[in-house]
Amino acid sequence: MFDSQDPEDEQLVRALSRFTADSIKLLTRDGKLCERYPQHTITPQQYLQAPQQAKPLSFIDLAGQQDNLRPQLERNVHRVLHHGQYIMGPEVAELEGKLAEYTGAKHCITVASGTEALLISLMAIDVKPGDEIITTPFTFVATAEVIALLGATPVFVDIEADTCNIDARKIEVAITPRTRAIMPVSLYGQPADMDEINAIADRHGLTVIEDAAQSFGAEYKGRKSCNLSTIGCTSFFPSKPLGCYGDGGAIFTSDDKLAKAMREIRVHGQERRYVHTRIGVGGRMDTLQCAVVLGKLERFEWEVEQRLRIGARYNELFAGKVPTVTQRPDRTSVFAQYTVFVENREQVQEKLKTAGVPTAVHYPIPLNRQSAYQALSRISSNVSSSDAMAGRVMSLPMSADLSQREQDQIVVLMIEALNK
Ligand SMILES: *Cc1c(COP(=O)(O)O)cnc(C)c1O
Repeated sequence: MFDSQDPEDEQLVRALSRFTADSIKLLTRDGKLCERYPQHTITPQQYLQAPQQAKPLSFIDLAGQQDNLRPQLERNVHRVLHHGQYIMGPEVAELEGKLAEYTGAKHCITVASGTEALLISLMAIDVKPGDEIITTPFTFVATAEVIALLGATPVFVDIEADTCNIDARKIEVAITPRTRAIMPVSLYGQPADMDEINAIADRHGLTVIEDAAQSFGAEYKGRKSCNLSTIGCTSFFPSKPLGCYGDGGAIFTSDDKLAKAMREIRVHGQERRYVHTRIGVGGRMDTLQCAVVLGKLERFEWEVEQRLRIGARYNELFAGKVPTVTQRPDRTSVFAQYTVFVENREQVQEKLKTAGVPTAVHYPIPLNRQSAYQALSRISSNVSSSDAMAGRVMSLPMSADLSQREQDQIVVLMIEALNK
């Protein structure tokens, strides 16, 4: 296929062609090569003349991450293509072992998505129609969806206005004889008041399920998110702090009985092949996605460090100028979102968009105000902070690969957008 006089250059161009167009170029004096591969090559002269083009800011820079992890991602994916065990291949157990070790939980059960993790957890504790599950209305819909799917009632407790996490002081009054579990969400990557929540659950014989879809890698009093209560659930949706290239999720527990139940429910409630002892789901995470997460794990510690550093730098640069989500001193956030509070959100978003800074809103409508949930849920006292924050929150670009220059630019434009 290649007939160049210079096989080394040809090899380089072939390798480069696997990167996104224009993300990386071969600097060469070989005019013939440049003629044949104008997209992938640049001469020293062109290089010196070209204006240093900044790549557009992405809200979450998955392409940059992929460029930095390509060898291990390709190696892992190819390994699966060669052994061909697409369902429950060796990468599944390998990933489960590594994630359990990372969090300190005894068991990790990978599943098809974060939503499936929450659903299987509720099924494992045998949630039935009419049961009540206490949670926050200020979250992604999946948190309440799985409760409703089982015929149980989501009971919404208000959030703290500064962290946007469930207000632990308001949980106890929401408990009734039908309450089975509390599902706090570690929103934006920061765990809720887990000690207080666990203490309430102990007093009333309830199970605590942490929805840690946004907080894998965060710590609370020195312990890892996903291992802060009886059950922890996370998601590997591509944009989460630890993401795959499709759907995936995991459940964590140190309870042997629950882990066995979860493993069975994950595969149609079968105890052994074609022997079904409980109702289950088709909820496995496929081998290819596990292979992708294994590749991403290789620099995950570094990514968490960067996220902490970039988040702290945003906090510093915004101090006294832009109100931001508060971080409690006894825990970390992995900043699945870096979120600020603004009054005139639509105008600010519009100005930032014009300036090339993408933003997002998590979440504009609390779940108690969603038409599908109004009849089947219950509000405990009032949810006024949740209502207020839904109108004010706005998230800014956040990735482990966000450069200092990009961050400075975002901060300047954000402060400008507020003042103009
Ligand atoms: C993303 C998310 C989920 C669902 O995860 P999926 O993998 O997309 O199913 C659940 N809860 C919260 C808080 C999330 O952010």
